[in-house]
Amino acid sequence: MTFTINSPNSVKSLNLDNIRSQIKALQPELVTWRRRIHQKPELGFQEEITADFIAEKLREWSIPHQTGIAKTGIVAMIEGAKPGKVRAIRADMDALPIQEANEVPYRSQHDGKMHACGHDGHTAIALGTAYYLSQHKEELHGTVKIIFQPAEEGPGGAKPMIEEGVLENPNVEQIFGLHVWNNLPLGTVGVRSGALMAAVECFRCKIMGRGGHGAMPDQTIDSIVVASQIVNALQTIVARNINPIDSAVVTVGEFHAGTALNIIADSAFLSGTVRYFNPNLESVIQQRLESIISGICESHGARYDLDYWQLYPATINDPKMAELVRSVATEVVETPMGVVPECQTMGGEDMSFFLQKVPGCYFFLGSANPDKGLAYPHHHPRFDFDESVLAMGVEIFVRCIEASGKINN
Ligand SMILES: [Zn+2]
Ligand SMILES: [Zn+2]
Repeated sequence: MTFTINSPNSVKSLNLDNIRSQIKALQPELVTWRRRIHQKPELGFQEEITADFIAEKLREWSIPHQTGIAKTGIVAMIEGAKPGKVRAIRADMDALPIQEANEVPYRSQHDGKMHACGHDGHTAIALGTAYYLSQHKEELHGTVKIIFQPAEEGPGGAKPMIEEGVLENPNVEQIFGLHVWNNLPLGTVGVRSGALMAAVECFRCKIMGRGGHGAMPDQTIDSIVVASQIVNALQTIVARNINPIDSAVVTVGEFHAGTALNIIADSAFLSGTVRYFNPNLESVIQQRLESIISGICESHGARYDLDYWQLYPATINDPKMAELVRSVATEVVETPMGVVPECQTMGGEDMSFFLQKVPGCYFFLGSANPDKGLAYPHHHPRFDFDESVLAMGVEIFVRCIEASGKINN
């Protein structure tokens, strides 16, 4: 693979007018990289082929980098010739346990695994950004770290990467990240200051009653009746305990119980997820959930085992960083729809851990194109996105880096 844009007479300047044409020239390369990654999807903490591909490219471009951070993570570092801030760009690189149903030449070659969330695109965009910045070091203010992160889909690679020091040496002052987003059409960017994505908490609960004959309920404690009351009562947390101005979700996703129509089930199993934006709700929902479960169980003489854990905190953007992304995106997307204000989703993201440590902005890059059949939702076996977002993503990142580098900005 050779680059044509790095010719001796290419204009090595971060001048805004030149950025677009140079990045547009990268588009065929971006598509090639994205498709190559798409064909070899790997699950969280197993991204070895992907990491090898990234490292090979970084070596080819003489970009210093460190591999093996949090197992498969990589950090590349581009030092500008001019003084300035240390910024980071974060891309996740894991796939999902889904069998791809798309009949495209670049379809997944790994059975039962698929890039169904677009992280292949994120990796390609981050590679393109690294390449572009490495070719323009003379004009670059400060330092840019490009973080390639494993396991965003769970159990989470951001936290272990932070624990292994990716935000230190030198200390990262600002961070940017994006998600290609089929909930928005191509040519739009979704961004907001404050909470963009929700906190994610999870629970598993076993309710233990006393089984028996279906015709003699008086001799039993019916775990199905107890668990059903719990499922219903949990809905009152959002309806009656949370300020209606705040948003929250309590979803019971699993309910397993019983073995036969004439047997009262000895135990029942529930699991679910809790979502919210306001960090003040951190223990509120958990406490209400446990007290509802314990109260209902007690009133029926049943017992319970509850596991409750916090997966990711809410993804909260710094207002200044969000404003920066908003103004850059407005120039880049150039469509009537443009920047979607107050974009928010109850989905979660472990970019949140980075944003807890340094001010930054995470945003959505609209990638759906229904005319081309590219509008399936994320995590669907037919998910795919319009690849013209790749150059758009690189351009937004590069312009954000350009606009944020000088010390007094
Ligand atoms: Zn996903
Ligand atoms: Zn994702």
